[in-house]
Amino acid sequence: MSTQRTTREWQAADAAHFLHPFTDFQALSRKGARVIERAENIYLWDTEGHKILDAMSGLWCVNVGYGQQALVDAATAQLKQLPFYNAFFQTATPPAIELAELLAEVTPPQFKHVFFSGSGSEGNDTVVRMVRRYWDLLGQPERQVIISRDNAYHGSTMAGASLGGMSGMHAQGGLPIPGIVHIGQPYRHENGKGLSRDEFGLVAARWLEEKILEVGPERVAAFIGEPIQGAGGVIIPPATYWPEVQRICDQYGILLVSDEVICGFGRTGRWFGCETMGTKPDLMTFAKGVTSGYIPLGGVMVGERVAKVLIEKGGEFAHGYTYSGHPVACAVALANIKLMRELKLVEHVRDDVGPYLASQFATLRDHPLVADAETCGLMGAILLAKDKATGTPFPESLEIGMVCRGHCFREGLIMRAVGDRMIIAPPLVITRAQIDEMMGLIRRCLDLTL
Ligand code: PLP
Repeated sequence: MSTQRTTREWQAADAAHFLHPFTDFQALSRKGARVIERAENIYLWDTEGHKILDAMSGLWCVNVGYGQQALVDAATAQLKQLPFYNAFFQTATPPAIELAELLAEVTPPQFKHVFFSGSGSEGNDTVVRMVRRYWDLLGQPERQVIISRDNAYHGSTMAGASLGGMSGMHAQGGLPIPGIVHIGQPYRHENGKGLSRDEFGLVAARWLEEKILEVGPERVAAFIGEPIQGAGGVIIPPATYWPEVQRICDQYGILLVSDEVICGFGRTGRWFGCETMGTKPDLMTFAKGVTSGYIPLGGVMVGERVAKVLIEKGGEFAHGYTYSGHPVACAVALANIKLMRELKLVEHVRDDVGPYLASQFATLRDHPLVADAETCGLMGAILLAKDKATGTPFPESLEIGMVCRGHCFREGLIMRAVGDRMIIAPPLVITRAQIDEMMGLIRRCLDLTL
């Protein structure tokens, strides 16, 4: 195990062989990776023995916290019983069937069917193929265009990254693929200066209508969005935004896809972000929280409008992954959802720690560096500014978020930087006392950044 090597030895082996995702390889090999070797509840320990409060739930996924024996037991039992069988060619396994059934129960009522993938990116690839297939089957093959938003993150596969609106990703590898277009994000600090929150929500939603009219409504297949843009910096839209988006999709008959890879499974204080935002999507991508990240699993919930056409008119849907419905992953997901229910984690976020985090974040607005601080459920963002009164940002070259993140790293807190936004999404099991501890660390790191 890891204790047999020193941190330096781990770092040398890492730099020699491991190409990390979203990482500048040379910078990493100069600095050396921080090697995390164990975890419990909301805390991590690195190979130097430092304890770290993980305010990002790994990568927005460890909703039930680390060290949950029920998930370990479910994986172990399933590995012994049947480590793998696929769902191709008219076969199935009990955990995949049971999970499909349970997902139909915990998701909004329009969802009775699921298509499993191994990750959120694969789920969104499935969405692209499925919505185009849906319109084909309805005799409208010209409906190919999918509208997404700038600064959205929908994954790293060719289709996922194309749906995403990350310009840095589009600059690499010939992206985006044809038939995907983008509109502005509902980020008032950037796009809505001078407008009230509610006014801006309507303005931003109507960019969708403008794009539909520009492309031609008869060519638009779907609109996809995260209820709250996560990797883009926890962009919490005004309350007016999503209902207006829903109205526009309904008016033009366009499918609405909610990417719930981050917002799903309790993160916003409801089971799914679309419930918090008041929309009724036709399709819903999920991953991460479905297993609390203990093992990879993703998928797409398929609403009855789409499922009916695929099932009744479709014949074979020529699409799928070896690990669609992997029995061990499904067994872990079953244990995870059951544990979430047992611990009443969604209610815990909605009624207790969510409102408490919001009240604590509000106090950060007094800090000289903080131009805004807001939360939804257990997602939070702090906007750093050079002059908080005017909202004047720090020069980009200063990389203020990275400076703050560096302090967090040293002080034993994982908080992520997205430009000048510091973001958090702690495990849903976090307590009020642990929120106090986290807030103390956040304040200390903001003070050090001054
Ligand atoms: N969609 C959203 C909203 C995400 O945040 C992510 C990952 O962070 C993805 C899709 C891609 O998921 P995965 O990394 O499991 O492929």
